[in-house]
Amino acid sequence: MPFEAPSAEMRLLLRTLSDFVRQEVLPLERPFLHHDFDTVLPAIDKVRHRARGLGLWLPQIPAEYGGMGLSLFDHGLVSEVLGRTTLGHYALNCQAPDAGNMDVLIEHGTPQQKEHFLIPLLAGDARSCFSMTEPENAGSNPTRLSTTAEKDGDDYVINGHKWFTTAADGADFAVVMAVTDRHAGRTQQASMILVPAATPGFHIVENTSVMGERGQDWASHAEIRYDNCRVPQTNRLGAEGMGFVIAQQRLGPGRIHHCMRWIGICERAFELMCRQAVLREIAPGRTLAEMGPVQNWVAESRAEIDAARLLVLQTARQIDREGAYAARDAISLIKFHVAGVLQNVLDRAIQVHGALGMTDETPLAFWFRHERAARIYDGPDEVHKWSVARRILGRVAA
Ligand SMILES: Cc1cc2nc3c(=O)[nH]c(=O)nc-3n(C[C@H](O)[C@H](O)[C@H](O)COP(=O)(O)OP(=O)(O)OC[C@H]3O[C@@H](n4cnc5c(N)ncnc54)[C@H](O)[C@@H]3O)c2cc1C
Repeated sequence: MPFEAPSAEMRLLLRTLSDFVRQEVLPLERPFLHHDFDTVLPAIDKVRHRARGLGLWLPQIPAEYGGMGLSLFDHGLVSEVLGRTTLGHYALNCQAPDAGNMDVLIEHGTPQQKEHFLIPLLAGDARSCFSMTEPENAGSNPTRLSTTAEKDGDDYVINGHKWFTTAADGADFAVVMAVTDRHAGRTQQASMILVPAATPGFHIVENTSVMGERGQDWASHAEIRYDNCRVPQTNRLGAEGMGFVIAQQRLGPGRIHHCMRWIGICERAFELMCRQAVLREIAPGRTLAEMGPVQNWVAESRAEIDAARLLVLQTARQIDREGAYAARDAISLIKFHVAGVLQNVLDRAIQVHGALGMTDETPLAFWFRHERAARIYDGPDEVHKWSVARRILGRVAA
């Protein structure tokens, strides 16, 4: 048995959370799908305030930092519940990219960095972004970066061009990956540096239009120029040249969060698909549910979601027990496998809804547009397949 069932305490928490999501967060979904993020933000902030009051806040963060202190396995279960609606993670302040930045600041931040950058993030008073990918360089190999941070007195002066910096619009600071020593070994060239958005030279060119939407605020992806951005060297996270090591640490648990969020999306899409199949009459007294192709989609989706869920939870348990390094094969497997299941299930759910599936009357079209990226960000499918297959075959050859 790869893992035991959730504890009684955890089952109670999941029930409370499901009720909260249904009663408080789900009603925000339609306004979110039909209006600008800014328009919905006041209502979202109220829900966040209520969540915090109920202790449903920062599930992934240790208790000494004001979080719920859940294991990765338990947070995975929470992430699944939150993933059922578009703003679930945001409501509990465990949304990407802030969640990853919180982890990094807790693990590598100095007391001053924690005071200045982490505490406002944990309180939900600030937002952040993670700025690594560059349009001119293949993000699949993030050791190839053009952005530089050159020492000048006690400062770094940062110059570079980034894009797909999620949630940069309105963020208070960016965690920027920049080359601090071009002559170091390939994986020791870059460092992570905290750059307040108010720093002169931090310039958002635009929110990049993604599948027809520029988005706004947290729900956006920005192109950024760093033009002689001067920050103190004390803003560096960890030792110089540790950027890639820290980035890898950031990604392991993050992939469990994403994968369980995707399972939550799959479950919701599955429910919508089944409901539509049962309700939609195609002839008097005959519904879509009686059609062979629809029955196949229902059966295939159920099998794929259940299998994916077990694989992710097994991986979460392995990380909890043995650490992310020991679980690196499993982490790669879930990343591409669940992203593929997500795409299959969303596609079938849209097909069953016909034209309705293309509208924003359900969240299916939003997810179909935005979660296509699941097969690209945090490592494209092919990179994960390549790295896991290489290790498996290497072991066989040895
Ligand atoms: C919605 C979204 C949000 C993002 N958010 C952020 C963010 O917040 N911060 C940030 O820094 N970046 C972010 N990214 C960028 C993301 O990390 C990169 O897109 C990703 O690393 C891939 O890099 P690339 O786009 O340059 O593709 P490339 O590296 O140019 O790769 C293109 C394609 O080549 C193929 N390929 C690459 N390597 C191999 C290989 N070894 N074997 C076989 N095929 C291969 C893959 O099919 C891949 O999709 C985001 C991207 C998206 C789409």
